[in-house]
Amino acid sequence: MREELKYAKRIVIKIGTTSITYENGNINLRKMEQLAKILTDLRNSGKEVVLVSSGAIGAGMNKLGLKKKPEELREKQATAAVGQALLMQFYEKFFSEYNQTIAQLLLTKDVITDQIKRKNTENTFHALLEMGVIPIANENDSVATDEIEGSKIGDNDTLSSMVAILVKADLLIMLSDIDGLYDASPAINPNAQLICFVDSIDEKIYRIAGASNSKVGTGGMFTKIRSAEYLMKEGIHTIIASGENVNIVYDILEGKEVGTFFSTKERSCECQN
Ligand code: GLU
Repeated sequence: MREELKYAKRIVIKIGTTSITYENGNINLRKMEQLAKILTDLRNSGKEVVLVSSGAIGAGMNKLGLKKKPEELREKQATAAVGQALLMQFYEKFFSEYNQTIAQLLLTKDVITDQIKRKNTENTFHALLEMGVIPIANENDSVATDEIEGSKIGDNDTLSSMVAILVKADLLIMLSDIDGLYDASPAINPNAQLICFVDSIDEKIYRIAGASNSKVGTGGMFTKIRSAEYLMKEGIHTIIASGENVNIVYDILEGKEVGTFFSTKERSCECQN
């Protein structure tokens, strides 16, 4: 059933803040370095890769010595501005070790809603991929605000699905702090089972997602499911998997049964859950 994942050529990978930072807020250099190596390796193997990375606000808080997320909007925006630069500095360092060129794209919601901006952004992504570059996208948190109606995408799960549509990806991989979608909350119910395959998203899936929410992060499971639903309609597969060990990306692309696979094709065999 996952056989076709081996042939996914254009892949968007989304990594959440908790997957690239330690609990104390410091950047997890080992993980970032591994991620840079794996994504470069995928490029070397002939795949096209786009990374959607969170972590700007987290890295900014750490750099500024803030113990908690600022509440005031202007401070939150300023923190993201500091952190985004830091984030890219580390990505640049690690990717350049493998001689891989990267690019930064900071997006806002109007990139999707405004036809001209959308086309321009699409062209930029395609040009970068043609040049062999790995684009790294994040929301432009320093200018997109909740206060301006409709200007903020709000979470990187949704952003990653928008990017997957813009670049016409074959697959979106969301690396998170949870192994995938469970049929109950694993924190409460020790018998909770990981659902390995989903071929249609209905009320029941959203109910389950509500119960099995991940611990942290802006989006949680709801925005992941909603993103997978958007992508199913566009013929793009989604996998939600744990970012604990980023080598899982290889397992996913070898068709191994890890995480939850939201397939655009109907179930055709014996997957247990
Ligand atoms: N754009 C935010 C950041 O870089 C993260 C949003 C999210 O995690 O969904 O901090």
